[in-house]
Amino acid sequence: MKAIAAGLLAALALAAAPALAKPKPVMPVPKPLPVLTPEAQAGVLRDDALQSNAAYQWVSDITTRFGARPAGSAKERAAGEWAAARLKAMGFDTAVVESFPYHAWVRGANDSIEITGPFPQKLAGVALGGSTAGEVEAEAVIFDSWQAFVDSTADVTGKIVVILQPMARSTAGEGYGATSGPIRWAGPMAAQKRGAVGFVMRSLSTDDHRFPHAGATNWSDGKGIPAMAISSPDAEQLGRISAMQRKGEAGPVKIHMTSGAVFPPVGTSVNVVAEIKGSEHPEQVVVIGGHLDSWDLGTGAIDDAAGHAIAIAAAKSILDHGLRPKRTIRVVLWGSEEMSQPEGFGSGGFNYARAHAAEAPNMVAAMEADFGADKVITATLPATADAAYGKTMNRLLTPLGIAIKREPSTEGDSDTDVLYNLGVPCLTLNQDGYDYFNTHHTPDDVLDRIHPENLNQVVAAWSATLWMIAGSDVTFTRPEPAKAEK
Ligand code: ZN
Ligand code: ZN
Repeated sequence: MKAIAAGLLAALALAAAPALAKPKPVMPVPKPLPVLTPEAQAGVLRDDALQSNAAYQWVSDITTRFGARPAGSAKERAAGEWAAARLKAMGFDTAVVESFPYHAWVRGANDSIEITGPFPQKLAGVALGGSTAGEVEAEAVIFDSWQAFVDSTADVTGKIVVILQPMARSTAGEGYGATSGPIRWAGPMAAQKRGAVGFVMRSLSTDDHRFPHAGATNWSDGKGIPAMAISSPDAEQLGRISAMQRKGEAGPVKIHMTSGAVFPPVGTSVNVVAEIKGSEHPEQVVVIGGHLDSWDLGTGAIDDAAGHAIAIAAAKSILDHGLRPKRTIRVVLWGSEEMSQPEGFGSGGFNYARAHAAEAPNMVAAMEADFGADKVITATLPATADAAYGKTMNRLLTPLGIAIKREPSTEGDSDTDVLYNLGVPCLTLNQDGYDYFNTHHTPDDVLDRIHPENLNQVVAAWSATLWMIAGSDVTFTRPEPAKAEK
């Protein structure tokens, strides 16, 4: 205690000394950024981004003006037009809207799901994107897990298959991948194949609120069975009734479900593509972005206004500092990431890669944000023979609390994976996904759930990372193009 007090006094004395001496005020001379080394410039971009709120402001603007932006909807197209105009006004050299054919899917207005026996009550559920409309009432066959359903030989003919598997929580989001993803993607069709007339799943969710989480299932083309996701508490409820049923304390569970899903004729979706032209190698392109569309229940603030706003804010920080990258920075707001599509059609990422495949050899790197608005915790960089690059990135990202992963990246993300398969090196600034699946695809995906200081940290990491690629000559090892594109 004494030592601390003495130290404090000494510090106070030191702090007070200049005031007593009254030195002449010296005006700080602003150093023009271009005379700094690229690493020092990246450091300034990083530090200034921590204060900028630029991404948060973009998320606020787009979600306030347009609300939800479902894949292939008029709202998505309008948001795309607005974004292109806004990016031009921000100082991007070009900003264009690129359309592609798309099959939208529209949720019915009066969807419902309820238990009609043995204990009648309403449930909170939503139809899965791409699933078929219909009204059914049938006995439920309840499975604790996806594997239990797959392994079971139970006759589900004329029944409703219910899968109650909870989703595991983790910072990297593994619980959403291989273990539970197939429930939503493949579940309805697998149940239909076995003769079921309806499909119900526990939402892919890590929260215990009474929000069902939307999400796509494989495109049913209106020829499937009604398929819905129910909230976690409702799944728990069904689990308790199922346990009573097993003990002979309750009769068979009956469920009534209605979905009015509509499959409009083929329309259009859009990608927004904006560029800051490179000064030395304009043909070399660094692709960064996130998706424009969202689910219909919330306003898509976290998924994925935050993602594309991060990319925009990182590029904007370069413009705002009067810097001109050597290579072209291309920001892409990919349309229609969320929904499944019939054969021959695809997401914005798919259509972007198809339209720009000829440029792939000139794409230096691609980076995407589609994992929320919380802080970056690790970085997965592409492989490179440039020994200094990793050390530089380590120096730049460590102050933000970001660790560089030892293993280089071996894939893209949801919209950049197609580019990776064309031989474009991808990198990922991995955000903390511990809470991501609390609000994911729910009515609670709104601006109010975003912490600006977390989003600023992400933009800081992106700004420094982007500048060390676009403002340098670093080259990455190109992945082997995938032999067969699906
Ligand atoms: Zn997303
Ligand atoms: Zn999503």
